[in-house]
Amino acid sequence: MNAVLRELLTAIALTMLAALAGWFAAGQRGAELMALGVVGFFFLRQLWLVLRLIHWAGCPLGTPTPSASGAWGAVFDALHKRARLSSAQREQATQELDRFRRAAEALPDGVMILDGHRAIEWMNLHAEACFGLKASVDTGSRITHLLREPEFLDYLNSPDHRGVPLELHTQRNPGRSLQVQAAPFAAGRTLLLVRDVTQLQKLATMRRDFVANVSHELKTPLTVTLGFLETAQDALHDTPPAEIEHYLYTAAEQARRMQQLIDDLLTLSALETDSPPPLEDPVDIAAMLADICEEVEALSAGRHRITLENEGPRRLLGSTRELRSAFANLAGNAVRYTPDGGSIVLRWGAEGSAGARFSVRDSGIGIAPQHLSRLTERFYRVDRGRSREAGGTGLGLAIVKHVLERHQATLQIESEPGLGSKFSAVFPAHRVQS
Ligand code: ADP
Repeated sequence: MNAVLRELLTAIALTMLAALAGWFAAGQRGAELMALGVVGFFFLRQLWLVLRLIHWAGCPLGTPTPSASGAWGAVFDALHKRARLSSAQREQATQELDRFRRAAEALPDGVMILDGHRAIEWMNLHAEACFGLKASVDTGSRITHLLREPEFLDYLNSPDHRGVPLELHTQRNPGRSLQVQAAPFAAGRTLLLVRDVTQLQKLATMRRDFVANVSHELKTPLTVTLGFLETAQDALHDTPPAEIEHYLYTAAEQARRMQQLIDDLLTLSALETDSPPPLEDPVDIAAMLADICEEVEALSAGRHRITLENEGPRRLLGSTRELRSAFANLAGNAVRYTPDGGSIVLRWGAEGSAGARFSVRDSGIGIAPQHLSRLTERFYRVDRGRSREAGGTGLGLAIVKHVLERHQATLQIESEPGLGSKFSAVFPAHRVQS
């Protein structure tokens, strides 16, 4: 305000001075001409500065304001300050938006923003992966043109559903189960959250199957045990003791099966929850194999030819208890699935690149190729009846697989129906102590 007043007073004073000078030089006419000249000069200066202001307003953001003295100088200074402030605010807003985007990218779930016409405004990488879309191509397209599953369209169209997630299987990402949730927000926009729940669903199914399997496995021996005990109870007074003894013996046999099943389940659960075995504990393989060979001979009771070949390194780094259980399981299976008169070879030897291999070869019933990949699943048996008869729980190879994984080793199975099988545990060099 002061600057404007100063400029006005200066203009008036200069006009008066010029008029006075004109008066002395050429009388009234001179005074009028001089005054007009000064007023004209001031008018043209204002016009020139307005033009510079208009030109500046058309320049790109961030162009410095024109410089001038007096009132216009004050105007340009004020504009310059405002331009700087707004540029700083814009910069801050851009940084915040960028931070928000990076946070949304880092979310473990997919996030997508739809405008009022259901066109994609933005999506993060997880949303791209879940829906099988590409932000660079699909941004701007309507989601309803890209995902055409009727249940998805119904879900988007029905505001009542929006608190509840939708389970979606889309052709854009076959074989995956998605959980989608829509939340409306500002100006008709919709926030879509999407999560891949395939793995969670698989786990839930596995858990359900596992409980059903365990219940089924326990139910049969329990029913048989109860049956024999009740029969023995009823027949106690009028039945020969040898018959009662037979009932009790059979009941005890079934109870032992249940005990074996529960032992195997506890072993599996311990293997799943324990941390991997340490690398520092050296296991004396020769002593362990001699023990296992004795056990296998006892189990076979002279029905098979059993050979032990030990040509491998003396020690393996790992857990004695776990390795013993895995090796004994493989050797026990060879006895149980090899008919009388067959042969079994237990072998410990060196493997390429200084690893080691424990193998059990039998001349038993063998396994058809379609079963091989599933043998280590819990309760998977080629022949359920035969496994039960042989006292199997269906958990042996699942235990072996877990133990080997915990020792960074792999299980290899070669088999031919009618000719026999070879199960090998192959250990990496870092587990071998020479
Ligand atoms: P099980 O307690 O039934 O033996 P495992 O997990 O040890 O359970 O083995 C799973 C299945 O693999 C067995 O039921 C059997 O059908 C098959 N199997 C395992 N070892 C052998 C083998 N040496 N010869 C033939 N079949 C075998």
